[in-house]
Amino acid sequence: MTMTDTLVAFDDVLASYDPALGLEVHVELNTASKMFCGCPTEFGAEPNTQVCPTCLGLPGAMPVVNVKAVESAIRIGLALNCEIAQWCRFARKNYFYPDMPKNFQTSQYDEPICFEGFMDVEVDGETFRVEIERAHMEEDTGKSLHVGGATGRIHGADHSLVDYNRAGIPLIEIVTKPILGAGAKAPDVARAYVAQLRDLIVALGVSDARMDQGSIRADVNLSLSPKGSGVLGTRTETKNVNSLRSVERAVRHEMSRHAAVLDRGTKILQETRHWHEDTGVTTSGREKSDAEDYRYFPEPDLVPVAPSRAWVDELRETLPENPTARRARLQAEWGFSDLDMRDTVGAGALDVIEQTIAAGTPPQAARKWWLGELARRANEDGIEVTALAVTAADVARVQALVDDGTLNDKLARQVFDGLLAGEGSPDEIVAGRGLAIVSDDGALSTAVDNAIAANPDVAAKIRDGKVAAAGALIGAVMKEMSGQADAGRVRELVLEKLQ
Ligand SMILES: [Zn+2]
Repeated sequence: MTMTDTLVAFDDVLASYDPALGLEVHVELNTASKMFCGCPTEFGAEPNTQVCPTCLGLPGAMPVVNVKAVESAIRIGLALNCEIAQWCRFARKNYFYPDMPKNFQTSQYDEPICFEGFMDVEVDGETFRVEIERAHMEEDTGKSLHVGGATGRIHGADHSLVDYNRAGIPLIEIVTKPILGAGAKAPDVARAYVAQLRDLIVALGVSDARMDQGSIRADVNLSLSPKGSGVLGTRTETKNVNSLRSVERAVRHEMSRHAAVLDRGTKILQETRHWHEDTGVTTSGREKSDAEDYRYFPEPDLVPVAPSRAWVDELRETLPENPTARRARLQAEWGFSDLDMRDTVGAGALDVIEQTIAAGTPPQAARKWWLGELARRANEDGIEVTALAVTAADVARVQALVDDGTLNDKLARQVFDGLLAGEGSPDEIVAGRGLAIVSDDGALSTAVDNAIAANPDVAAKIRDGKVAAAGALIGAVMKEMSGQADAGRVRELVLEKLQ
């Protein structure tokens, strides 16, 4: 095994080759029970506490299909513009793996529940249509823990333990057709596809969609063909790439590695590859089996799945607005620039800004607070902006107080201090901290008189028509009023008194 492969610079790869991408994404469903038994599915339970004879594969145990999982599969398929099978079956995929107690995985083979769909993926304003070959139901395997080694992999480990809690949790595997023509954007298309798919899964509410916990896992297929030949090359499959950034990096790395192998005149081995997050490289896994090696056959213990058209139509009615379409709609409604929108989505603030605007705040003000002041504070604490102890309703109320002249931006920031310190509602904080702007002209007038008296030379300049000098007096008044004055009103008073 070569640990460090020779690589070709990314731009040079594209001079000689066209990349073909393929993505297989496993989505772990958030059903309360497993695919074929009633065991619970909570993440992080004590090992081997969520198991029964069925998911342990004990002789004589009979599986029963989880209807909620079928429902989720159909909704995912519909959201991906797929056909929904009138009739389909489960199949046994036979292979040995210690974390798979039955020695076969119950999956679907030539009769997937969803097929022939597509998703339009946006990259830098350009749309790529990613065709979906199939989305099928299957069960997850258990989990092997390799103990005593430095890497957590089996090499160098003292012993291995198996946790079957995950065995039998429902998965949907979504497989694309080869994605051609992405060229230099192949890494970005791969990333954008997985990101959009994740957003869709979140909007459907069918999975936790946590890549870091493995509830969405991407396998990245890549091959290169000589430029313009149109002949698909041999592909490699990089397994379990578990962040969006890694999807992009893995494609980039495999393109550079494939090109180096092909440039030497050697062949690409059809194999799985391991992705190494820390070093950003892949290493050889196992030689990829062909489908016939699994000796698939229809699962005799389960009845076929034949969703009625009425049920499918009913589920179609439950689909959420497509996340990409929703973003485009909101961007137009709010008048956000592409950059504003990218920042909003990137900060995970789309929902909370939408709620703030719905509560009556102008879009630019909602954006300003959430992506400015609040994002800065979240960043200081190393948390998501939505995890702050500030709600959309709070921000809307603070902005309403700014709009009616009770607060200026500086005072508003002190209200956020109060909210984060748990001092109550915005109104309670304004009252408690005495933050409201002084609108009493008598008090302001006295402060202006004091400032004029203390700065006779500045006052003289303004009397001579140098209005620009007013800033110094306004500053002095604001200081005396501890910032709790309307600077515009102070300016008016200064000019009234000196002109
Ligand atoms: Zn079970």
